[in-house]
Amino acid sequence: MQKITNYINGKAAEPTAGNYLDNPNPATGKTYSLCPDSDAADVQLAVEAALAAKTSWANTTAEQKFQVMSKIADLIDRDNERLALAETTDQGKPLWLSRNEVTRAAQNFRFYATATMQMASEAHITENQAVNYTIRQPIGVVGCISPWNLPLYLFTWKIAPALAAGNCVVAKPSEVTPMTAYLLGELCIEAGLPAGVLNIVHGLGPKVGQALVEHPQVKAISFTGGSATGKHLAATAAPMLKKLSLELGGKNPNIIFADCDLEKTLKTSINSSFLNQGEICLCGSRIYIERSLFETFKTRFLELVKRLKTGNPLEDDTRIGAIVSQQHFDKVMACIAIAKAEGGNILTGGNSVQLEGELADGWYIQPTVFEGLSVDCKTQQEEIFGPVVTLTPFDTEEEAIALANSNSYGLAASIWTENLSRAHRVSAAVDSGIIWVNCWLYRDLRTPFGGMKNSGVGREGGWEAIRFFTEAKNICIKL
Ligand code: NDP
Repeated sequence: MQKITNYINGKAAEPTAGNYLDNPNPATGKTYSLCPDSDAADVQLAVEAALAAKTSWANTTAEQKFQVMSKIADLIDRDNERLALAETTDQGKPLWLSRNEVTRAAQNFRFYATATMQMASEAHITENQAVNYTIRQPIGVVGCISPWNLPLYLFTWKIAPALAAGNCVVAKPSEVTPMTAYLLGELCIEAGLPAGVLNIVHGLGPKVGQALVEHPQVKAISFTGGSATGKHLAATAAPMLKKLSLELGGKNPNIIFADCDLEKTLKTSINSSFLNQGEICLCGSRIYIERSLFETFKTRFLELVKRLKTGNPLEDDTRIGAIVSQQHFDKVMACIAIAKAEGGNILTGGNSVQLEGELADGWYIQPTVFEGLSVDCKTQQEEIFGPVVTLTPFDTEEEAIALANSNSYGLAASIWTENLSRAHRVSAAVDSGIIWVNCWLYRDLRTPFGGMKNSGVGREGGWEAIRFFTEAKNICIKL
């Protein structure tokens, strides 16, 4: 059975204690590889390697950083099919979706490779009395912790800006989906990334992640994951005065006005509800529809949902693959049971899917649509992170805004209307870090990305990430 290794000091490294965790393929439910069950000793080795490399990487020219990061991007593109297959085997998402995500991972590296060449200092002249100039210096050694839903994409989304800003990185992918992070380590060796600049330590959150957050030489942590874990991290890191970026959960509203372009709204709402089995922090799981359109939308939406094929992630026509783990499968099924107990009316789905042959023990759930749930019930308030959405009617624009804001999360919202003034008004009034009007998941890597309220603190993307991964130093020269 394949053994994944850590990537420390430019080399593949076994976990020091020699322990491994089973890594199952969610499509079959069977263990297909072993993931290092690393601990604080491995984190220590990784931090030492990063500390040893930090001065040299910080002083590496922008051109050299650009070259090696571009090379990593090119190698990710070269290996798209291999990485996509690895991602699907590890995560359960359809292969066609993995191919897109691997492309986006290469784009992350390429985007921040170019950023190395564009960084500039600011200057402020104080009325003929002083010149201030502000330089941005790397922090040193930083930690990047990422979740299992978009494994390689989110991993690279953190690592690339951290490296571009001149830091050395110790990164921990989710132990649920370690394979593409491991393969990335191999590509970094091939690309000639100097030893110690990036270190990848696999293992459990409470062991490896916790050791990373607690390590006194790790000066900043960029974390993407659940809100509860994020709060725990903040409680650990805040007394150490560490810089923290927290990209957390979402329970996003998808607000549909009667004056929307219905065909476009339906097509995109299917994706925003069920792409990646609904395991995307940006999914629009609370669908609010203006009452005059409610029945029409419902009928048409359900027709489309019933056509979605839940099945083998390797088949091109599969729209909903496997749920990432037995544990998460149990959680989503428990959420469906809660929604029923709360009085929700199931319009379609609600059950697990039993496939045959080698997929018989995989974890599959039907796309599920509820209506008739109150605004304040658990199902409408808490993140499910699976293929489950709720439909709720509203009567006025004010009510739609109140419904959208009736939740403790504030990551993303979609608004569907052909009325330009309304689009602006509602966008301004909804408490979310990201608003999409007449679209969803339309990304430009230069824009700020992140959430309000329980969805996080700080922003990633573009210069926001470079600012996070650097210390500003102002130098004032009196004339
Ligand atoms: P978790 O919070 O469980 O885990 C995220 C990462 O943190 C994993 O690598 C995990 O390791 C690690 N971790 C767990 N405990 C600790 C700890 N004590 N100290 C340090 N690290 C720790 O999230 P999931 O992996 O379940 O991911 C799903 C969540 O991520 C959802 O809530 C989703 O909304 C959110 N998310 C947010 C995004 C955003 O951009 N805002 C994007 C994507 C997802 P391990 O896997 O071993 O437990």
